[in-house]
Amino acid sequence: MGKWTNLIKQTTDSDPISGAVNTPIQLSSTFSQADFDTYGHFDYSRSGNPTRESGERTLASLEGGKYGYLFSTGMAAISSVLFIFSSGDHLVVSKQVYGGTFRILHDVLPRFGITYDLVDFSNIEEIKKAIKPNTKALYIETPANPTLNITDISAVVALAKEQGLLTIADNTFMTPLTQRPLELGVDIVVHSATKFLAGHSDILAGVAVTNDDELAKRIYFIQNAVGATLGVTDTWLLLRGLKTLGVRYKRSSESAQTIAEHLQADKRVVQVLYPGLSSHKGYDIHQRQASSGGAVLSFDVGSLENARKVVEHLEIPIFSVSLGAVESIISYPPKMSHAELNSEELLEVGITPGLLRLSVGLEDVEDLIDDLDQALSYID
Ligand SMILES: *Cc1c(COP(=O)(O)O)cnc(C)c1O
Repeated sequence: MGKWTNLIKQTTDSDPISGAVNTPIQLSSTFSQADFDTYGHFDYSRSGNPTRESGERTLASLEGGKYGYLFSTGMAAISSVLFIFSSGDHLVVSKQVYGGTFRILHDVLPRFGITYDLVDFSNIEEIKKAIKPNTKALYIETPANPTLNITDISAVVALAKEQGLLTIADNTFMTPLTQRPLELGVDIVVHSATKFLAGHSDILAGVAVTNDDELAKRIYFIQNAVGATLGVTDTWLLLRGLKTLGVRYKRSSESAQTIAEHLQADKRVVQVLYPGLSSHKGYDIHQRQASSGGAVLSFDVGSLENARKVVEHLEIPIFSVSLGAVESIISYPPKMSHAELNSEELLEVGITPGLLRLSVGLEDVEDLIDDLDQALSYID
């Protein structure tokens, strides 16, 4: 079955009682039990709920995994996955990891004795050097935010297997239709489903998927223990959003490719970072492991002042954080997603003062290009 057919089939769990075509929203915190000795599959919605279970099965299937878990946000999913580790454990993490993930690693987990080192994941030797006797996992994010840096998933998996380590991959930027880390040997895939999966800048959601029975038990234990589960109405909205993921992501990626090529030819733009451009570092690796350049690109307009002018004159993209929605979103990472880094730390992860990130939505690509052109005309 094709990926898009599977997407439609999976997101439609009809109600066997009424025949309703859409997955029923089971707004029930508790479930009655047949008798004193016979307990059903569901008892309390933190532990399991039919609507959430339908969503979890869907996400597992899309990623090619056996087990999926839905959480209230991407950070709840990522944190819950990291809570499977114990005091004394060490993680090696891509230095371009999402800011919220960095916050958990830096400010929360060390209080429980879980430590980490940040490493440039485009350099396998660097990862190898950072591995300690107590290292338990390697944490990948590719393409990374906002530089779209590429990590060679198979190479990291090979190193992890050789050293007996787990691999975790944040697949938010690519979606399971475009990149499937589990098939490349990754143990756990996480997502901010807030972005492309839900796709409409409406809900927050997170997901973790694995194929491994033992890891699934550990993640489920934390999901139930911590209780940061996705509510049923939001699960329904996620399923509703997912139905159009195929067409949304395809169109946005094609537009992003066109815009990236257009901006690359513009002399006012110092640099374009987009995994669909052959000039992008890691392009060949990305081509091997993903089927499109994706819908997010970053471009450097030379200075903070120029970035300000472009943002102030753009009329179509909304100026905000987040990405992966039907509307185009422009953001200025140094003051938004990466505001906690000082100027030295920003440069260290490749975020220059003139860098803007554009998440391409579903508008006419000609309109987006015209808008970018007129906004760029204000810079020196
Ligand atoms: C947004 C994002 C997250 C966090 O997800 P939330 O839903 O905002 O909690 C994690 N990873 C990446 C790559 C993201 O873009």
